[in-house]
Amino acid sequence: MNGGETLDFEIRPNLQPVAAAERSALMANPGFGRIFTDHMVTVRYAEGKGWYDARVEARAPIPMDPATAVLHYAQEIFEGLKAYRAADGGVTMFRPDANAARFRASADRLAMAPVPERLFLDCLEALIRADRDWVPDDAEGSLYLRPFQYASEVFLGVKPSSEYLFVVIASPVGSYFKGGVQPVSVWVSRDYTRAARGGTGAAKCGGNYAASLVAQAEAMQHGCDQVVFLDATEFKYVEELGGMNVFFVFDDDSIATPPLSGSILPGITRESVLRLAAERGHAVREEPYPFDQWRDDARSGRLREAFACGTAAVITPIGTVRDAEAEFTIGDGAAGAVTMGLREQLVSIQRGTAPDPYGWVHRVL
Ligand SMILES: *Cc1c(COP(=O)(O)O)cnc(C)c1O
Repeated sequence: MNGGETLDFEIRPNLQPVAAAERSALMANPGFGRIFTDHMVTVRYAEGKGWYDARVEARAPIPMDPATAVLHYAQEIFEGLKAYRAADGGVTMFRPDANAARFRASADRLAMAPVPERLFLDCLEALIRADRDWVPDDAEGSLYLRPFQYASEVFLGVKPSSEYLFVVIASPVGSYFKGGVQPVSVWVSRDYTRAARGGTGAAKCGGNYAASLVAQAEAMQHGCDQVVFLDATEFKYVEELGGMNVFFVFDDDSIATPPLSGSILPGITRESVLRLAAERGHAVREEPYPFDQWRDDARSGRLREAFACGTAAVITPIGTVRDAEAEFTIGDGAAGAVTMGLREQLVSIQRGTAPDPYGWVHRVL
């Protein structure tokens, strides 16, 4: 199995696609992850046979035996990326090769058969071609792509599955922030961690999210938008949010983010921000940042801005930070200039309205 392998797709068009008028009505206010396109891509894997039976077909429920391995031992991984409408009516994706590589790394960690990177990219392109009318035309919208893979063997023994299903579905999404970018408030969890060294924190697997939901619920009970996790060893260093990486901007214009220690998800937005920030002249550091230091730096004014980043919201300013004992504000609590400058440049590259010297934009149509 090598990264260059791919398959021919059997195309079975959806014979009852959503009518154009209804599609437009749905896409006028799509929200996030509630509306889906007409098609899905599926590819099967069996030990000894490899990947086979690649299809573009009507999106439909997948019948599942109650003894299917994923339902019991959670061997499941996923990705999330966006397709954008280009100015000339074409369609692009942002760094899909990085998602393909991360998906393979996640598969390795969960002892799953890796999807060859070329096949992964071909599946994304096949779905975009089938559902091109679902890519929003407006300046805020995009088509969120969700590739995922799960253990499909029917067996209750604890072992890596000998069969997998790889699926790609797509969902048109609107602006994450209705009415402009708003800073979020974050809750620092003292009772829960997201991932430990040696665990699955660096893999994009559903199980990590299952483990984070109770902490996210706790954040919301305390009136915060998102949870921030500290390291699992000392509960001392800031790691990341439930589904976003975190950055800090200091009064000397330097920018820092926690290093990829094995328990942090290596975000593609994170890596893109590191690159852009350096090119914009910021000193950039990947270094451990104790929570107490975060509080002290915010209070002294050494810390000017903080933001979270990930595919869904791109870059989100952090306005206030709270734990059981105290609360502090970052800067004046509003979105900072460095945060918004980085956001503007990254969004413009993604949407094709700014130059892309990095070769990040991948043309599909
Ligand atoms: C997906 C994800 C991110 C962000 O990754 P991007 O590639 O930037 O979307 C950050 N943290 C966690 C836990 C994630 O699952």
